[in-house]
Parts: sequence; C-alpha cells; structure tokens
Amino acid sequence: IKTIGVVTSGGDAPGMNAALRAVVRACSYYKLRCKGIRLGYEGLITNNIVELGPRSVSNIINRGGTILKTARCAEFRTEEGRKKAYENIKKNEIDALIVIGGDGSFTGAHNFEKEFGIPTLGVPGTIDNDIFGTDNTIGYDTALNTVINAIDKIRDTATSHNRMFFIEVMGRDAGFIALNSGIASGAQDILIPEKKDEIEELFEAIQRGEKAGKLSNIIVVAEGEELGGVYDLAKFTKMKYPKYDIRVTVLGHIQRGGEPTCADRVLASRLGVAAVEGLMEGRSSVMAGIRSNNVVFTPFDEAIVKQNVINNELIRIADILAR
Ligand code: ATP
Repeated sequence: IKTIGVVTSGGDAPGMNAALRAVVRACSYYKLRCKGIRLGYEGLITNNIVELGPRSVSNIINRGGTILKTARCAEFRTEEGRKKAYENIKKNEIDALIVIGGDGSFTGAHNFEKEFGIPTLGVPGTIDNDIFGTDNTIGYDTALNTVINAIDKIRDTATSHNRMFFIEVMGRDAGFIALNSGIASGAQDILIPEKKDEIEELFEAIQRGEKAGKLSNIIVVAEGEELGGVYDLAKFTKMKYPKYDIRVTVLGHIQRGGEPTCADRVLASRLGVAAVEGLMEGRSSVMAGIRSNNVVFTPFDEAIVKQNVINNELIRIADILAR
C-alpha cells in the first residue's frame, strides 16, 4: 500500500475530524500518501478528492462536524455508481480506503471491496453508539455530555415551576443515549426501545415521584421508543394527571454538534491510527473498534449485522435511583 484514501460518510458526529487527523498523521508517520474524499461517497463518484498532508489537518482535533463534509449518496448504492468510484480510485492511485461512518457506510464499503478488490477498513463514527464491535462509537460521549448539559438547564426551570418535562433524545432505534443521559441527569423515568415499556409503568414512576415528594419530573424518551413518541406520551400523561404542568423538549440536532469531549478525541485518535496500521498489516473488510481498552478488528459482516446490547445493570440502577 502506498496511498490511502479517507472518507467521512453518513451522519456526521463530533470527533470525525479528530479521526481524520489521526489517519492523515499516521499515514505521514508511515510515509504513506493520504487522499481525502469530500462529501462522502459522492466525492468518489465525482472525483472530489484532495491530497492531505500532516499540516492540512492542523487545528481540527477540537472541531465538531467533518472538514471533508459528508453526504448520503444514493448513486453509490448502484453498481454503475460504484464503478465510477472505482475508476476515480484508480485515477488517484488510491490502494486502500478508510471509511469513517456508520453501518450503512460500512455496507457500501464492503460491497465495493467485494466487487473491485480495493481493501476497505471502517472507523465507527456516530453519536448513536449502535455499532457492534466497539464499546463506544466516536461522537457518542460528546452527544451524552451535550444532552446532560441541556437537561441540567431544563431541570432548573422544571424545579422552579414544579413542571414535568418529557425530553426526547436521539439514538435512532437504540436507547444508549437515553439510558446513560437519563441516569446522569437523574431522570424520573427513561423510555427506550429495548425495554418495551408500558404506559402504566410510566404512570407508576410518576406516582412514585409524587409520593416521594419530588418537585420536578424529568422523563427522558429515546427517539426510537415504541409507545408513540414524546408528544403522545405527554398528551396521555396530561389526560391521566390533568393537574400536572407538562412540557415537551425535543433536543434534536444540537446533539450532533459541538466540540468533541476528551474521551471522543482520544477514541478517534486511537482508531484513526489503528485503521492505518490495520491496512498496513493486510486487514480489510473490518472495522476498528475499542473493547475493554484494547483495539480490536471486527469483520464488516459481523459489525453490520449484530447489535450492541443495552446493559441491563444500567436499567436496574436507573430504577433504584429514581425512587
Ligand atoms: P449513520 O448511522 O450516522 O446514519 P450510516 O453510515 O449508517 O451513518 P447511511 O446513510 O446508512 O449512514 O449510509 C451512508 C452511505 O453509505 C449511503 O448514503 C450510501 O452512499 C452508502 N451505502 C449505504 N448502504 C449501502 C449499500 N447497501 N450499498 C452501497 N452503498 C451503501
């Protein structure tokens, strides 16, 4: 391998820049050329590709988003699209590809490698933490900290007015952000898709809070929760307890932005270097991850299909502490 291409793809996540920097600097360290593909897989198809030297990634370790930009690219899902991408890979003398993104991006990389034999290696970048093969994905810790900072502020006003807040957080079909931010912000109840909650359980939690003399109620709801969404939950609760002053906050895309936390910068730095070293060792169609503080490589087949599971111990703790 002489030249490595690097692309950020799918949804952006804080820490992608730190991962990109690590890939570029590791390439420079090992005397490899590095080329950045702009706008996700679209840049491969349109030949939007730039040479990246170690100084081109100065001052980005602390920045959210991705300087390469990212996109969802329908054309890369087609064989013709991937053929165009392959032609540009050849034109740019790229020998291997590092993809920083989520499982959709890894599926694309995997198909591309199977068809054209270009080695690909994934780095998990998504705030949702829903990728198998790593304890944490890049961006997850930053999103959690953004969420708890926001909930802390909401709690101030909730307490002052004796209000109940339903707060929707991101996470796609997974409850990692909701469960962890809910524990860290002292939520009265946490609703996540993995738990298969019943509305009665929510009402019980609210009643327990009232009996225990709680002045405010924070209910954290994962966006993928299956009871009908945060507005419906607020409506049903108001019907059951008309005396409550209930408000809804959807935190939305603020969760995707901001400076990456120290943990995300270190994770991204480790995985960026691991990706380059993995390719140099001849690994491909794998994702670099960190489990129990060790770098591990998980085959794309496995990373794409399997799910990270929620830790039941955290559900138990959340319940104990909300009483
Ligand atoms: P996030 O989890 O943050 O949304 P992601 O990587 O899962 O990130 P997707 O939109 O699912 O995001 O995928 C990103 C891009 O990967 C797609 O826009 C498409 O270009 C490519 N891709 C996804 N699935 C496939 C596939 N089956 N074949 C080829 N390319 C694919």
